[in-house]
Amino acid sequence: MKSSQFIDEYLHQDEEGDYVLNFLPCPFLGADNKCLVYEDRPKACREYPHTNRKNMLGILDLSLKNTLVCPAVSKIFYEIGKDYKK
Ligand code: SF4
Repeated sequence: MKSSQFIDEYLHQDEEGDYVLNFLPCPFLGADNKCLVYEDRPKACREYPHTNRKNMLGILDLSLKNTLVCPAVSKIFYEIGKDYKK
């Protein structure tokens, strides 16, 4: 599938100009909760939850949102917070 066809069929741009899925849950999530396109999943899926980026500050808003849905991100922020309480 060409990128332009994928964008037309599955994505739209949000208020910040980022491409996001038209439908949730993801149309590639199988009935068994496994990714139907795992080997070819998008870069954002491969990098999720984006906690190993060099510029974490640049995606702080996204990471804070992810603390609400991803236990790993929540744990990382909790541990970082403990260091700043000292
Ligand atoms: S890994 Fe990405 S493409 Fe696969 S089901 Fe999850 S959100 Fe969809």
